Amino acid sequence: MESLVYKCPNCYAELKFSAKDQTFTCDYCGSHFTEQEMQAIAAQIEEHAAQRPKEEVQTDSEFNEHTNVYHCESCGASIMADDNTSATFCYYCHNPVILTGRVEGEYRPSYVLPFQLDRETAVQHFKDWCKKHWFLPKDFLSAAQQERITGLYVPFWVTDVDVAAEMDALGKKVRSWTSGDYHYTETREFAVARKAKVVLKGLPADGASHIDDDLMEAVEPFDYNAVKPFAMQYLSGFYAEKYDMNMAAMFPRIQKRAVQAADQTVRATMKNYTSVSVTRSDIKVMGTKWEYMLLPVWFMSYKYRDKIYEFALNGQTAKFVGEPPLSRGRLAGFCIGLGAAVALIATVLGVLLS
Ligand SMILES: [Zn+2]
Ligand SMILES: [Zn+2]
Repeated sequence: MESLVYKCPNCYAELKFSAKDQTFTCDYCGSHFTEQEMQAIAAQIEEHAAQRPKEEVQTDSEFNEHTNVYHCESCGASIMADDNTSATFCYYCHNPVILTGRVEGEYRPSYVLPFQLDRETAVQHFKDWCKKHWFLPKDFLSAAQQERITGLYVPFWVTDVDVAAEMDALGKKVRSWTSGDYHYTETREFAVARKAKVVLKGLPADGASHIDDDLMEAVEPFDYNAVKPFAMQYLSGFYAEKYDMNMAAMFPRIQKRAVQAADQTVRATMKNYTSVSVTRSDIKVMGTKWEYMLLPVWFMSYKYRDKIYEFALNGQTAKFVGEPPLSRGRLAGFCIGLGAAVALIATVLGVLLS
């Protein structure tokens, strides 16, 4: 019997059919589907393909021919820059990087969100932030450190996700009133059932394994309205990190966010009950559409007592994130100072009281 070869609707790897439980399973991202679900997904993909205008097949050659890759042997970062921009140190761990050659393979992004903040503005944002944080180490924003502030296009996978959600719940409506000497409470119970198709647009996740995920989620949101089809000119003067996590590797993170969002969406439709307890919830990602795009982030990392502190400034919206390192020396100095002041006040009080 000739069996149909299905591609995983989430990461596009080939699915395996398991005769035992009659499901299609993806070994790469862990998704699984029934035959019925696969047929519905296949029909939907065909419909999409018919609706979409034939996109021009763009050549990757310009990107591959004019983009250099620098490698950091200490932390493994792969940094890309165009012919006119050269990298000497790793923006992340500050060690020297070596030029390894041109980009090879499918790393040309489809889209890019151009930087809105130039270097001067970015540095000013860092300075303003420093003014609000007292116990930073002395050289935190030294001239050398300012130079390390890097305009980095972070490789993001931005996904549209189709989610199928089914939820059963016990909903209660409670009302109470008093009549004469009696207090009445009426509780009505409802079997609540929801079946929904939730479509999530533009869920982002960065595809660089050593850039902190929480940091990148904190720097969101980006306004995708300003996104442009990728062209070399946007790269000029900036760096871009080469992604090292493909769609299958990204899927669990996208899935987690999509399931959470769908769960909230469905629960929001049950607000007219006094209380709701969910008895069954089946939320499943049924399909994904991925775009690989570069999003602009001003990045600074600071090495302090063997720990790397990362700071990020959204290159479009100027949203700033990062945890400041506390200089123990300066903090201790402050405490001693404070201690001295307290002692002084006590002495003054002593004098006054005597
Ligand atoms: Zn898969
Ligand atoms: Zn490095």
